[in-house]
Formats: sequence, C-alpha cells, structure tokens
Amino acid sequence: MDRIVVVGGGLAGIRAAEALRRGGHTGQLTLVGEETHFPPYDRPPLSKQLLAGTWDLDRVLLRVEDGLELDLKLGRRATSLDARGKRLTLDGGEELSYDGLVIATGATPRHLPAAADHGGVFVLRTLEDCLALRDALTGSPRVAVVGAGFIGCEVAATCRQLGLDVTIVEFLPLPLVRVVGPVIGEACAELHRDNGVKLMLGVGVAGVEGHTRVERLSLADGTTVDADVVVVGIGVSPNTEWLEESGLTLDNGIVCDETCAAVGVDGVVATGDIARWPNPRFGAVMRIEHWTNAAEQAEAAAATLLAGPGSAQPFGPIPYFWSDQYDVKYASVGMIGPDDDVEVVEGSVEDRKFVATYTQGGKLVGAFSCNHPRALMQWRKQIEELTALT
Ligand code: FAD
Ligand code: NAP
Repeated sequence: MDRIVVVGGGLAGIRAAEALRRGGHTGQLTLVGEETHFPPYDRPPLSKQLLAGTWDLDRVLLRVEDGLELDLKLGRRATSLDARGKRLTLDGGEELSYDGLVIATGATPRHLPAAADHGGVFVLRTLEDCLALRDALTGSPRVAVVGAGFIGCEVAATCRQLGLDVTIVEFLPLPLVRVVGPVIGEACAELHRDNGVKLMLGVGVAGVEGHTRVERLSLADGTTVDADVVVVGIGVSPNTEWLEESGLTLDNGIVCDETCAAVGVDGVVATGDIARWPNPRFGAVMRIEHWTNAAEQAEAAAATLLAGPGSAQPFGPIPYFWSDQYDVKYASVGMIGPDDDVEVVEGSVEDRKFVATYTQGGKLVGAFSCNHPRALMQWRKQIEELTALT
C-alpha cells in the first residue's frame, strides 16, 4: 500500500497513524486535521484539570511517537469523499488519492436551539471551547448546566470546586441514567446534591432569556433558572456530513464490519467516536464515545488496513470508561445498560466506595465502580472469561 490518508487529527487519528508505522507502513502517510494543534491535545482534562486551572496547557498535549514522517495537513477540512474512486477533496479544492483511508473525524456537540445568539452559552469539545469557558468562569458567575450526561456532571463538579453557584437542568429523572441506570444514577445525584449543586431533574429547557447575553433559562414547567453562564452538554453527533455522497454506509456513524472496515467499499476503515461496528464479544452493534475505545480501535483499524480483505481480525474489546467528579472516580467495564439488573457487590454506595455488577438474564455483562478501581479489574477478568471469543 503506497499512500495512506488519515482524516481526523484527534486521539483516534494520531493513534492510527502511529499503529500504521509500527505495523510496517513505509509509504506516504498523510494526516488531514481540521484543528491546528500538533501534537494533538487530549480532551478529558478539558472538563476537569484544565477547566479548573490546576493543569497548564503543556500537560494536555498527547505524547506522539517519534519518526512518524507524517505529511501534515492541519487546519484543513475534508469536504467530500469518492470511496470508489479512492479520492478525497479538502476545503480549497485540493484532491488527495489514497490506497488506504482511516476516518477518525469524531463528533460535534449538539447545540441548544433556543440559545442561537446568546453570549454566555457554551459547549465543550475543543481546547478553544475550554479556554473560553474558563475565562467566563472568573468573577463568580452563576452557572447553569444543561444535560446531566458526562459533560454536565464533570463540568458541574469542576465549577463547584471553583466555588461557583451551579444548577443542573436535565430532562431525564437522574444524571447519567441512560448509561448507568437508576441505581447508580441516584448515587450520582446524591453526590452532586451533597456537593451543593441544585438539581432540576425531569424537566427540559423551554427558552433562553436575555438580550445579547443569557440572563436566565426558562424551563418547560414554568420555572426559571438565573444564570450568567450556561454550559450545554446534551450529546454529540458523529461528523459524517462530509461523507453523505461518499458511497459509505452511514447510520449514526460509519457502518463498519467486525474488523472496523467500512462496509461495501474497499480500503476504508473507521475508528473512535465516529465508528459503528458489531463487537463480536457481546454480539452487539456499538458506537462508543470514550477515550479508551478511540485508542484501542485505532490500533485495530490500522491493522485491518494493513492486513487487507480476508486477513483482518475482528475487534472485540471490553468497553471501558472513567469519569472524575469531585473526589470520586467512576469507572465502568463491559457493556452496561440502563435496563440491566444492578447489584452492589463490594463496598457501599453510602461510603462512596463500591463495585456494582450489571447482569442481563443472569449473565454478567459489565461492572461499575466508584473509587474502587482494583476491585473493578477483578470483575473485568470475569467478564473477559464469560464473553471470550471462541
Ligand atoms: P475527536 O477527539 O473528536 O477527534 C476528531 C478530530 O477530527 C477533531 O480534531 C476534528 O476537528 C477532526 N475533524 C472532524 N471533521 C473533520 C474533517 N471533515 N476533516 C478533517 N478533520 C476533521 N472519555 C473517557 O473515557 N473519559 C473521560 O474522562 C473523558 N472526558 C472527556 C472530556 C471532554 C470535555 C470531552 C469532549 C470528551 C471526553 N471523553 C472522555 C471522550 C473522549 O475524549 C473521546 O471519546 C475521544 O476524544 C474521541 O476521539 P476521536 O479521535 O474519535 O474524536
Ligand atoms: P452525553 O453523555 O450523551 O449526555 C447528554 C445528556 O443530555 C443526556 O442525558 C441527554 O439525554 C441529555 N439531553 C439531551 N438533549 C437535552 C435537552 N434538550 N435538554 C436537557 N438535556 C438533554 O453527552 P455529553 O455529556 O454532552 O458529552 C459529549 C461527549 O463527550 C459524549 O460523547 C461523551 O461520551 C463525551 N464525554 C465523555 C466523558 C467521559 O467518558 N468521562 C466525559 C466528558 C465527555 P438523552 O440521552 O435523552 O438524549
């Protein structure tokens, strides 16, 4: 394979480039990235240490292997792809031909439609988003966080640690409930209440009030929340718009086979937040929006590209994520879901040190820990054995 192009210069893109070189690709290797930072920065500290001001910029840069000999095209956006002709177009009209293509274009935050023109309303995905939000947090503003998913919970925790007045507004009855279910969702709600966050649950945002800047949120139940800063964390959409006419199959991400190869075309793999693939270990189609998957899947996707059709191996990871909120480190292994049976099997929720197992029809599929990472790894071993690929 002479020419490989990687589109997307985040975690998945750079890890794929490294894996391609380690895997023996000696030909041309081009990295196209809309952002201009190199080395790329890491996103997890953007809602935690960098936002809190406890880490400086140097600490959020990813370490990149030496000797990659990348042809870097940064600050450039891929605007279309012709997968059959093996050619992509960049903004400005430049065309790139390839023998192999890695797509790692990640995802973009959803915006609150009601807040189109208001100053003081933020999303959090990029380094620039983080620095702008951090600036806005000086001078003791009242903060409203819309959405109690990962961004909402982590930003609320960081803002409370900065001593700010924080209200979370979430349409669902509990924080993180779509991911962890009601038992752990309730524990998470208690954590935030105990740390002084006002939780407004089971109610949506009806409007954003204020002239040029936000002054308050009006909620669907007729109540209002006064706020100088609003942080919106209501999920993301995979960055597939540029692939609409490409010949790839798109369905909430790029549809891939078990080996992370894009279905129906030759020489294209996908990795990270944008890739949707059947995980053979769990017999389930997944698109995972967490750090560890972006790194691991990049290795798998690169190996698939180098192996070629017929020789590639399935990618069957045990999903993992962590989330730091206050002095609590949540972590999860396996395929946890809101409808699973949940049982606290070690420690106690009251002590904020526990492990809970997730089972489906009596079968262990995942585990969740709060400040108990070592115990979680024991459960991981069991999940690995129970879901082993034969
Ligand atoms: P991205 O990191 O989004 O990278 C995609 C890149 O592609 C971007 O640079 C983008 O600009 C570029 N791009 C997009 N479209 C184009 C185009 N057309 N042409 C060229 N370039 C393009 N996960 C955890 O497990 N634990 C955590 O604690 C955690 N904290 C997080 C905190 C924050 C604030 C955020 C935003 C995410 C966090 N995550 C966490 C999730 C994790 O960071 C992501 O899952 C991971 O970054 C996904 O990597 P990616 O490379 O797929 O996508
Ligand atoms: P998320 O975790 O998907 O959570 C979004 C939350 O907002 C969900 O509970 C969602 O409910 C709710 N919501 C949606 N529309 C809403 C509305 N109009 N009003 C109020 N609530 C609404 O997404 P996120 O928190 O925005 O995070 C963005 C991305 O960063 C995700 O990919 C996430 O995985 C990643 N991230 C990960 C971590 C981590 O792993 N520790 C940390 C930070 C960020 P519904 O489910 O009903 O839509």
